[in-house]
Amino acid sequence: MIYTLTFTCTPEEAQSTEFIQQMLLRECGKEYPYFRWKKRSIDARSRNIKINVTLEYSKEPLPPRVRNFSFHKVNKSPEIHIVGAGPAGLFAALKAILLGYKPVIFERGKNVRARRRDLALIARHQVLNEESNYCFGEGGAGTYSDGKLYTRSKKRGEVDLILEILVHFGADENILVDAHPHIGTNKLPKIIENIRECILAQGGEIHFNSQLTGLRTAKHKVTHLEINGQKWIPTQHVILATGHSARDVFYTLHREGIKLLAKPFALGVRVEHSQELIDRIQYHGRVNDQFIPPASYSLVEQVEGKGVYSFCMCPGGIIAPCATKNGEVVTNGWSPSKRNNPYANSGIVVAIDPSDFSNPEDPFVCLDFQKMVEKTCHDATGNNQKVPGQRLLDFVEGRQSVDFPRSSYTPGIESVRLDLLLPSFVAHRLQKAFRAFDRKMPGFLTNDAVVHAPESRTSSPILIPRDREKLHHVEITNLYPCAEGAGYAGGIVSAAIDGIKCMGAIADIN
Ligand SMILES: Cc1cc2nc3c(=O)[nH]c(=O)nc-3n(C[C@H](O)[C@H](O)[C@H](O)COP(=O)(O)OP(=O)(O)OC[C@H]3O[C@@H](n4cnc5c(N)ncnc54)[C@H](O)[C@@H]3O)c2cc1C
Repeated sequence: MIYTLTFTCTPEEAQSTEFIQQMLLRECGKEYPYFRWKKRSIDARSRNIKINVTLEYSKEPLPPRVRNFSFHKVNKSPEIHIVGAGPAGLFAALKAILLGYKPVIFERGKNVRARRRDLALIARHQVLNEESNYCFGEGGAGTYSDGKLYTRSKKRGEVDLILEILVHFGADENILVDAHPHIGTNKLPKIIENIRECILAQGGEIHFNSQLTGLRTAKHKVTHLEINGQKWIPTQHVILATGHSARDVFYTLHREGIKLLAKPFALGVRVEHSQELIDRIQYHGRVNDQFIPPASYSLVEQVEGKGVYSFCMCPGGIIAPCATKNGEVVTNGWSPSKRNNPYANSGIVVAIDPSDFSNPEDPFVCLDFQKMVEKTCHDATGNNQKVPGQRLLDFVEGRQSVDFPRSSYTPGIESVRLDLLLPSFVAHRLQKAFRAFDRKMPGFLTNDAVVHAPESRTSSPILIPRDREKLHHVEITNLYPCAEGAGYAGGIVSAAIDGIKCMGAIADIN
């Protein structure tokens, strides 16, 4: 029999095994030799920071936390073509193997290890490889991401399945316990490699440096996939999991007459404070405390009819250069597993809607806007991957910054009046929101913080419409637009869930 006990304790107590044993003895009247965390969250709303804990305990050894996955041998099974080896593509492939299908993945980028060298080139020499970068390559945008695993999905079963699969492939079991689980950029690549090895060992295929460049359709079906502009591959079922940065894919679909729609997304800047300041604000002056994690924040404000909100906040993280084409700049952020960098960064973005423009029916209206802002920011510095920056208070009060504190953005920043450079309906709302955020988190609006621009790849600016139940494209019945690039996910966990769902939908009709 497994029992649970829920209680609240101090951060120090939560790290003491003796305290936990005493707690069990006091609450249950006897000693239990087997116990472990079931859930854990931090409550920092008051000065008295508390840890909310649920413990599970038993007289017998506790069962493994992770279920047994039986991956089948699929060498001779029917093939499923998956385009993109991001979280969606990889989890679709694992699901295919669990269901007895053979996944064949086409990925434009390189494997995780080779990809790492290309990321170093961006940081050190501002040289961008358009096929191998923070967004493209094995593991997708998820690999060198923060690995924050929280999602707005309320379907606990689906989320637990993804977390358990990640643990099966090497993630720490704590991700099953923490209210805000996080893996860290340094640990994700190994997990991705383990997933790849499983797919290959079971008989699946992964083709790197293999970009989908075209497709042929007939009678509402995709009949062939073109890879690298060279060979045409006949196909039965295609999961299209190419992420939100694969603009070429949107153009390819459009050229083939496949229906697309403009989709709301969000765009703004990435702001960086010192982590110490964020800890001081969020933890009521308690800083450098080994018992509590680096603090995060989540902010939202309605400004003149539009939401302005923080996005992908990275405690102890760095700002990363995430462009996929030369002639554009894009920022995003990540943290290592220990979140031990001295910086705290977050996207602060304004909701953008097709109706903001005069031609909302044009499927590319939001994408064109996103491209325009990324190019404008690039041209403002004239350097390939440097980004325009402004101290936060200077941005809000409309002043050129004369110098900068240290920034984690290694390609560098150049002083630009972002309040004038960004489209005025964005800049103006950001200015107002920053003032409001300072009322919620006094001290947030400081000239010791720096805004970097742009934060523009928050979600896909295009929706690839699909049947609500069968999940295939509304007109092309064997094409499964999947996850973030198609507009059905935002983040690692929801992308992985959608990959699994699309594969499940294919199995249902077979
Ligand atoms: C720096 C950074 C930090 C992030 N931090 C987090 C975080 O902490 N938590 C979180 O939940 N999310 C985070 N995200 C977002 C997360 O990574 C994405 O939501 C997620 O990866 C989307 O998964 P996906 O499989 O839909 O697409 P992607 O991960 O974008 O994968 C798409 C794949 O398709 C490939 N591809 C594209 N076009 C083609 C083509 N034509 N042919 C063949 N292959 C193609 C790409 O190379 C890529 O590998 C972060 C993103 C970045 C960039």
